[in-house]
Amino acid sequence: MTIRATVWGENVHDRENEIVQSIYPNGMHGCIAEALNADPDITATTATLEQPEHGLTVEKLAETDVLTWWGHKAHGAVNDAIVERVAERVWEGMGLIVLHSGHFSKIFKRLMGTPCSLKWREAGEKERVWVINRNHPIAHGLDESFIVGETEMYGEPFLIPEPMETVFISWYDGGEVFRSGVTYRRGGGNVFYFSPGHEVYPIYHNESVQTVLRNAVKWAYNPAPAWKNTDAPNVPIDKAPEPITEKGPHLHAPGEAGFR
Ligand code: ZN
Repeated sequence: MTIRATVWGENVHDRENEIVQSIYPNGMHGCIAEALNADPDITATTATLEQPEHGLTVEKLAETDVLTWWGHKAHGAVNDAIVERVAERVWEGMGLIVLHSGHFSKIFKRLMGTPCSLKWREAGEKERVWVINRNHPIAHGLDESFIVGETEMYGEPFLIPEPMETVFISWYDGGEVFRSGVTYRRGGGNVFYFSPGHEVYPIYHNESVQTVLRNAVKWAYNPAPAWKNTDAPNVPIDKAPEPITEKGPHLHAPGEAGFR
């Protein structure tokens, strides 16, 4: 069975901005899905903000192994209940790839727990993406660095938790640097943030960027069954794996649910 990827797009600039339309006639999500589907091991479909439940119904997420997330203008329009639904799926083991301005998305901030702020500048600069973790699966097939010809500068300090791994560091014409590819694990879910992807430049057509996206989907894929045991069960004394005798005072009655 192939890896089931759902490519989520905000689809606002894609419809309203002529420059973005000219670069991505099928939307950025369409371009990303096409890049993923070029790999026989991946089956990518799309979901967008304006669809009912943002296209992320319980059923759709249940059959998603890896979700990619691109948002920018309309982070605030994403329903909080859907954000929680996505977070739950990540904790269960669904992979999540957060792209570009998704650093400020509700789901990324929810999972990181930090402001996720950064410096930025829109000046069509060159970006050199350095592969600083050469053996990482997400870097498979890349040279020691690759160029994104025109980019939006994203600069440090990037207020994220210390990553599990840093795969890429970018350097820009203007001199700033940025941790442009970082990994995390949240519950059972693998999370990857990748910064290149400003919408008025053809970045998702870049071959190296597409390689990163395909590699990231494969890296984030967790074949284990969904990890559902997140409700903090009170294990009765007679159900302990080893026989024990109750002793000492206790706060809770037998079988009582924990405080929330
Ligand atoms: Zn941007």
